[in-house]
Amino acid sequence: ARVDNPYVGAKVYVNPDWSARAAAEPGGSAIANQPTGVWMDRIAAINGTTGARGLRAHLDEAVQQAGGSPLVFQVVIYNLPGRDCSALASNGELKADELPRYKTEYIDPIAAILGDSKYADLRIVTIIEIDSLPNLITNVTPRPTAVPQCDTMKANGNYVNGVGYALAKLGAIPNVYNYVDAGHHGWLGWDDNFSASAQIMAQAARASGSTVNNVHGFIANTANYSALREPYFTINDNVNGQSVRQSKWVDWNRYTDELSYAKAFREETVRAGFPSNVGMLIDTSRNGWGGSARPTGPGPTTSVDAYVNGGRVDRRIHLGNWCNQAGAGLGERPKAAPEAGIDAYVWIKPPGESDGSSKEIANEEGKGFDRMCDPTYTGNPRNNNNMSGAKADAPLSGHWFSAQFQELLRNAYPPL
Ligand code: BGC
Repeated sequence: ARVDNPYVGAKVYVNPDWSARAAAEPGGSAIANQPTGVWMDRIAAINGTTGARGLRAHLDEAVQQAGGSPLVFQVVIYNLPGRDCSALASNGELKADELPRYKTEYIDPIAAILGDSKYADLRIVTIIEIDSLPNLITNVTPRPTAVPQCDTMKANGNYVNGVGYALAKLGAIPNVYNYVDAGHHGWLGWDDNFSASAQIMAQAARASGSTVNNVHGFIANTANYSALREPYFTINDNVNGQSVRQSKWVDWNRYTDELSYAKAFREETVRAGFPSNVGMLIDTSRNGWGGSARPTGPGPTTSVDAYVNGGRVDRRIHLGNWCNQAGAGLGERPKAAPEAGIDAYVWIKPPGESDGSSKEIANEEGKGFDRMCDPTYTGNPRNNNNMSGAKADAPLSGHWFSAQFQELLRNAYPPL
């Protein structure tokens, strides 16, 4: 039987492949023993690719690491048809209409492996399809942020049916805990996006023979940079009679940080029909925002913008920036049950792995070139036409980015 919070009283799997790359970097041994997510980002990843062992090899190693005690194994399910419809950096191998291949060549083999009785004592946490369902709310016609590929995925139903299929198949395994991706506050924290996203997640959880009971929880901030806590302002503050919601940075969002967002989104999913005990995970791998640029107190009260910009620890140019953000640091170390309603802080995006290449790079992984990863790019409606804030000289998404890893170490908050 499943426990309420799989992280309580359990160790978490350390991916030896990531750990070796981290340990090889100067200073990297400080974090090389931290647990990170294992990404099944293409069909070939199931059996293993160059530099990344396959799923069975990971699970066999997990059984070793467990040594007879409870251990959480975190695996990312990330290969929907038409993946990453609003961006290009993590476009995948399956075309928009290839739901049948998603089922038979990807989910079914993964489910067969996870269901092997050898692994029955592991607590297997699955992270279900990052950055997928909310695109069907936020990046479709008639929104100004619409992109044709997301209109296609809405019309063909393959995100909804693919997520439903994954939840049903994986949820049938008694020691699997499904956590559905819940974006982050800088995406879904606006009123137009918030309830509608919870509702499309409920729709997906009831698709393809699934029920909402296949969902153990949700995860916020995977592979994103939104700060866990903004300590120097709250959403209720006013400056000269103006709400912080009117500042350029907050721009009418309801939340200032991931902790307040995750707690509220949890409650919204319960209202949308999910079980009342769903739990949240927050990815804190790269949202630390420490280092010398970190404010140490509130901004001046001369204007609402001065107040927010002077006090915010998230130093991005715009909340919508998501690729290899310059100046970021490691966030909270992985931790079980840090707050009410939060099952764990986790590092699902492995620090040091790129979000996307800063220039076009030919490849056989289906990865495109997204200009949000180009530091010279001046933006699009999804980041309100701001500079991308991305670091230069980045490799393809998922590939090792040493300079970013070292900056994350330097700017860690809490400091290492
Ligand atoms: C990439 C994946 C990679 C993951 C973790 C994603 O952005 O598309 O290929 O496995 O990041 O680094």
